[in-house]
Amino acid sequence: MPTKEKIKTFPELEAIIVSKSSQIDLLVVGGGPAGLTAGIYGARAGLKVLIVEKALLGGQVSSTFMIENYPGFPNGIAGQELTQQMEAQARRLGVETSWGNVSQIKPGKNSFTTYVDDKQIKSKAVIIASGADSKKLGVAGEDHFRGRGVSYCAVCDGPFYKDKNIMVVGGGNAAIEEALYLTRFAAKVQVLHRRNKLRADKMLELRARANSKIFFVWNAIIKEITGEEKVTEVLVEDTQTKKNRKVKCDGIFVYIGSSPNTEFIKDTIKLNKAGYIKTDAKLQTSVPGIFAAGDVLDKRLRQIVTAAADGALAAQSAKDFIEGSV
Ligand code: NAP
Repeated sequence: MPTKEKIKTFPELEAIIVSKSSQIDLLVVGGGPAGLTAGIYGARAGLKVLIVEKALLGGQVSSTFMIENYPGFPNGIAGQELTQQMEAQARRLGVETSWGNVSQIKPGKNSFTTYVDDKQIKSKAVIIASGADSKKLGVAGEDHFRGRGVSYCAVCDGPFYKDKNIMVVGGGNAAIEEALYLTRFAAKVQVLHRRNKLRADKMLELRARANSKIFFVWNAIIKEITGEEKVTEVLVEDTQTKKNRKVKCDGIFVYIGSSPNTEFIKDTIKLNKAGYIKTDAKLQTSVPGIFAAGDVLDKRLRQIVTAAADGALAAQSAKDFIEGSV
């Protein structure tokens, strides 16, 4: 009697797709949504992919409480859960990961050498998906009180501010989303913005305005952060009258945007004035074989969904480059 052919399950099929080569085809710098998606698409295209990450896989999204605008999750999804799922998907497809700081990428004749701490890793193509880090205010007391009243992560530190009086600096989506999140803990959340109009989406603004714990301080910037053991007060300047006043507060959450992690590549590829990477429509940088994806790109909309789309396109372009079809 002929034996029934066993139906292959999803992981078994993928194991066939993933390259068994010991040489890295595609090295991805950064394991946020852009890097993980590049890994998923690269592996499915049969490439041996290594993602090098300096901190946590998932990037900034991992510390975002709730994502409400990534398609497929009508009730939203926790940032950490979303990135854990992306990581699991990449690993299932055979994507490898390594931890370390990338200091340089050197283009060679037929390969690239990436310097990761004291290791050198060769690959046929590279995708830079190194993202962006939180911008600092650059005022006196900010570094001194970091972790003692100054924070850049509401999800990490919000629970320490139960019934406290806190300040969120910034007027973008991140500031307003995190201010809303912080109302779970704090008694009062003052949103301090340098203009009198928010940059954040209207929907978020309406939600914040309707929240009885949130107060807006318009046309204001922080000049100094003071305290003893912990933050107790900030010096606030009115940007119109230039008058300063002291405001009592227990904590300051800074959400004034981010700056790209491109220091390690700034002498190798073209960047714009602000340090973001310039690419062509296929996401290839000024050096053939080096591609870029996600928040590190010179682009208008920095979202998880656009980072994922960039990762897919960059991986496809890297595959074409490796196969000599670009
Ligand atoms: P952002 O949109 O660039 O907003 C930064 C805010 O900080 C702006 O209001 C800006 O003021 C203010 N600011 C900048 N430098 C400052 C300084 N030195 N002192 C005081 N205020 C300063 O940054 P983001 O909110 O981090 O968002 C980054 C990207 O991620 C955006 O594309 C955003 O849409 C996206 N994002 C999306 C979501 C979401 O859709 N769920 C959530 C978070 C982030 P001005 O307005 O005067 O320039």
